[in-house]
Amino acid sequence: MATELPVIQPDLPAPLDPELITELSAEIRELAVERNAVILAHNYELPEIQDVADYIGDSLGLSRQAAAADAEIVEFCGVHFMAETASILSPEKKVLIPDLDAGCSLADSINADQLREWKAKFPGALVVMYVNTSAEVKAETDYCCTSSNAVKVVEHIWAEHGPETEILFGPDMWLGVYVERETGLTDDPGRRSRFHVWDGECHVHAGIRPDDIVRTRAEHPEAEFLIHPECGCSTQAMEYVASGDIDPEGVHMLSTSGMIEHVKDNPEGSFIVATENGMLYPMQQAAPKANLIEANRMAYCKYMKMITLPKLRDSLRDLTGEVKVDAAIAEKARLPIERMVSIG
Ligand code: SF4
Repeated sequence: MATELPVIQPDLPAPLDPELITELSAEIRELAVERNAVILAHNYELPEIQDVADYIGDSLGLSRQAAAADAEIVEFCGVHFMAETASILSPEKKVLIPDLDAGCSLADSINADQLREWKAKFPGALVVMYVNTSAEVKAETDYCCTSSNAVKVVEHIWAEHGPETEILFGPDMWLGVYVERETGLTDDPGRRSRFHVWDGECHVHAGIRPDDIVRTRAEHPEAEFLIHPECGCSTQAMEYVASGDIDPEGVHMLSTSGMIEHVKDNPEGSFIVATENGMLYPMQQAAPKANLIEANRMAYCKYMKMITLPKLRDSLRDLTGEVKVDAAIAEKARLPIERMVSIG
């Protein structure tokens, strides 16, 4: 077998000394009590950030935790659009993010002006946007969706508004192509011409290509193949399976809790995991003896890794990094989220 070369990860912060991690974590927990703050961490955050948080989860799950928490301050360790979503759903709380520059390449692929221009070209079309979008884009959106419910949301629109309804779908082109295939549009040019897909994508996609996956699976024939299409980083893997580019045998597409439960059910099993690599940490915590193999070691989100313990400590101590969505935008942006949640 070929020797594995060390991976150069230029965007990752330098690892902290274990003693400093212990010291900063204690300081952060004290500050959280003092400030009456709840600390939320996305699954793709650095392990030490996940360890210090009150709750770990995916973006929508965490926004719901933010709304339910009995706290004045929500410290959101994730990326900017996630903190905005928390602010939209919890307007009475102060929402902070440790680094305001922690963005998202997928959310940045469409802005509100671009969406308004797109809508102007297709009057009467309904807009479906992935939750990975800014609050301003959500305010121009009819329905939000996640990768797990995108097909359901689109089918709901056709059921409620008629099968001829024109749809603008974005910003993740991979999820758009997947929805086309799963709803039968690929073989129906007439209906397909009324389903328009924005050509945005997440930069982490570049780290998870079919060749990498086929090679990794060949090296580990005993391993199941788990796809976690929660963020934008692995929606293309869903499409590779649907199109037959990847053998569907032994493939499981799972939500965040589904991934954890799946490894707990077979705690000594082998699993190739296609997602942002931070997700392997909570899975390994849940099943310490499981053999977890990254589909590609370069599949990491540089924005998520911008959140570090020193920045988290500073934000809680100095109450910096507030993310506040304008009330009028928040009111409009809440509607597509609520519509999505009611569809399930
Ligand atoms: S993994 Fe991709 S979609 Fe998710 S936050 Fe990072 S850049 Fe955005």
